[in-house]
Amino acid sequence: MIRETLKSSTFLNENMKSLIIPIEKVAHVQQNNSLEHALLVLVKSGYTAIPVLDRDSKLNGVISKALILDSILGLERIELDRLHTFKVSDVMNSKLATLKMSGTFSKALALSINNPFICMTDDDGAFKGILTRSSLLVYLNQELFQKK
Ligand code: AMP
Repeated sequence: MIRETLKSSTFLNENMKSLIIPIEKVAHVQQNNSLEHALLVLVKSGYTAIPVLDRDSKLNGVISKALILDSILGLERIELDRLHTFKVSDVMNSKLATLKMSGTFSKALALSINNPFICMTDDDGAFKGILTRSSLLVYLNQELFQKK
């Protein structure tokens, strides 16, 4: 009963445009940046993962602190010199969670299970910004418990 009521709620089919962090506010790196640069951006921004873009702001992948740390682990020690020799493209994950700007809340919610953020694109596939897991939770909390 509760499940049926919830499933018929209109908010599930709303698009997420108002929740998107626009491209100009998204921290990112480029494929040919060094791992050292990427690690600096990640640590300074406080984010665990950020998108990798090319010069035309096209999406190439995702780079994370975990991927970088994994790539510099030697057998017995952390090999810091690899931070200079490896590029972002050597270790990034090219699998991305993407959703069109017109995508619905329910699609975004499903994608957010395995992705801390979703890359939002226009109809031509151009990157427009990101939708974070926390913004989806804030929205859900508002719809379920704060709206009268
Ligand atoms: P949150 O749900 O707010 O914790 O955000 C989830 C993840 O999205 C963060 O851990 C970052 O990896 C990424 N993220 C959030 N905001 C930004 C931003 N402005 N630029 C780049 N990545 C971000």
